[in-house]
Amino acid sequence: MPDAIVIGAGPNGLVAANVLADAGLSVAVFEAEASVGGAVLSAELVEPGFVNDVYSAFYPLAVASPAMRAMELERWGVRWRHGPLVLAHPTPDGRCVALSRDIDETAASLDEYAPGDGAAWRELMRFWTRIEPALLRGLAAPVPPVRAAASLLARLGPRGVRELARTALQPVRSFTAERFEGEGAALLIGANALHADLTPESALGGFYGLFLAALGQRYGFPFPEGGAGQISKALARRAEARGVTIVTGSPVERIAVRDGRTRGVVVGGVEVRSREVLAAVSVWELDRLLGRATPASAEPDPAVVKVDWTLDGPVPWSAAAARRAPVVHLADSLDALTEYSAELGQGREPQRPFVLFGQYSQGDPTRAPDGKETAWAYTHAPPDANSERTANRMEDEVERRAPGFKALVRGRHVALLPPGRVNGGTAQLHNQFIFRGTRWGRPRTDVAHLYLASFSVHPGGGVHGAAGWNAAVSALRRRGKLARGGGRAGSPA
Ligand SMILES: Cc1cc2nc3c(=O)[nH]c(=O)nc-3n(C[C@H](O)[C@H](O)[C@H](O)COP(=O)(O)OP(=O)(O)OC[C@H]3O[C@@H](n4cnc5c(N)ncnc54)[C@H](O)[C@@H]3O)c2cc1C
Repeated sequence: MPDAIVIGAGPNGLVAANVLADAGLSVAVFEAEASVGGAVLSAELVEPGFVNDVYSAFYPLAVASPAMRAMELERWGVRWRHGPLVLAHPTPDGRCVALSRDIDETAASLDEYAPGDGAAWRELMRFWTRIEPALLRGLAAPVPPVRAAASLLARLGPRGVRELARTALQPVRSFTAERFEGEGAALLIGANALHADLTPESALGGFYGLFLAALGQRYGFPFPEGGAGQISKALARRAEARGVTIVTGSPVERIAVRDGRTRGVVVGGVEVRSREVLAAVSVWELDRLLGRATPASAEPDPAVVKVDWTLDGPVPWSAAAARRAPVVHLADSLDALTEYSAELGQGREPQRPFVLFGQYSQGDPTRAPDGKETAWAYTHAPPDANSERTANRMEDEVERRAPGFKALVRGRHVALLPPGRVNGGTAQLHNQFIFRGTRWGRPRTDVAHLYLASFSVHPGGGVHGAAGWNAAVSALRRRGKLARGGGRAGSPA
């Protein structure tokens, strides 16, 4: 009988298993799919010799998050790759916003949209570097992140914290209008906010967009050589080296609960007993496994149309910067992002989808044969979207900015992913912090010794491993395996 069972071998489940094993617990992980990874997986989806990232593809959170850093992925086989730029956002007037790890290059690009915006970006980054350590620590700490808040208070003082709280709640429009003159900066921050289901008008959007853009500035948007799956393999390798048993192709059918506490899980009709159960699955799956209906307040993030291509050569973007950036954002303006969000809000398939586009050849030649390219993209969509039609519209968006793109397409793979797959719940304010997950944003559930360890709980979606970390630390603390104040990410339990 293992000390702990983890349900799901996505990034959060694998981090949780590692943290528990680091503390000396015996751990079994049950994964429904044939391979580990969850939404961190690569495969030859279209044709042999071309490696596509099936879901997620770019990992600023993995390299910045204290929980994932503690996994030392590089020691377990991950080789991070970067392109010459981090991301590019071409605009219809022929200009192109460029985010570079070299701040001079980013600033020069923003100055092209409005002189002085480069200086405003530098000032924002100076502020960011003051608050980043506390914010990242807050990721890998259950709600409320007391230490992170105390550290911000010490750094900024009460007035500074009040101003930060206001800033954090601002939508993209007012956040960028207060700081910048040009559309370039608004697009840089706005399009990053729309990685999640935040619109230019949503509370939190400005800060969320800044968060991703600032991580891009400081760490890039790296991707692993050989495909996203290398991250999952590294996490699994690390766990197995510590004695964790990972069983793939084994969906958990039910969580066994008696007398208000979990007793283990049922797999293949057999009860596997364990004292602790960490459910690194969505909140909807957790409730299904408990035989409950999910409360209506657990609102999912939108469905997604995901497209993967194999191409006969690199994408011929008109804007030179877009040819140098692994990530390219496609939207004409901030207003265009609002129109796209409004159509989605009304349940319609956007006429002009906002496309998050990825290409690898400048950074990782192992993803495609010589001279060829693999490309990745997604856009939000209604759950009943016609995915082929949306994929065609996404290709139109690329073709507008890269004439000749369609002629390079060798093949494509299109998938409509149901709501909740990217973020495990909307990223809007009403589903953040104490509102997220099952119990005040914390990993503990109302069943004793059962923890929610996935993207459905704080801090939400993305490959940072923090939800798995927090759940494991919570379980260890309850077992008395961790002193109070121990288990901070960065100091493995
Ligand atoms: C299209 C797409 C693009 C994305 N792009 C990025 C990106 O570029 N960068 C980024 O940081 N994030 C990105 N994300 C988000 C990120 O991938 C997810 O937020 C993250 O994978 C969530 O991790 P998790 O471990 O909580 O859940 P998941 O990765 O969803 O893993 C859950 C696992 O649980 C398993 N499971 C479910 N039910 C059971 C059961 N009953 N028994 C056993 N196993 C079960 C599933 O098979 C799965 O393996 C993207 C997501 C998607 C879908």
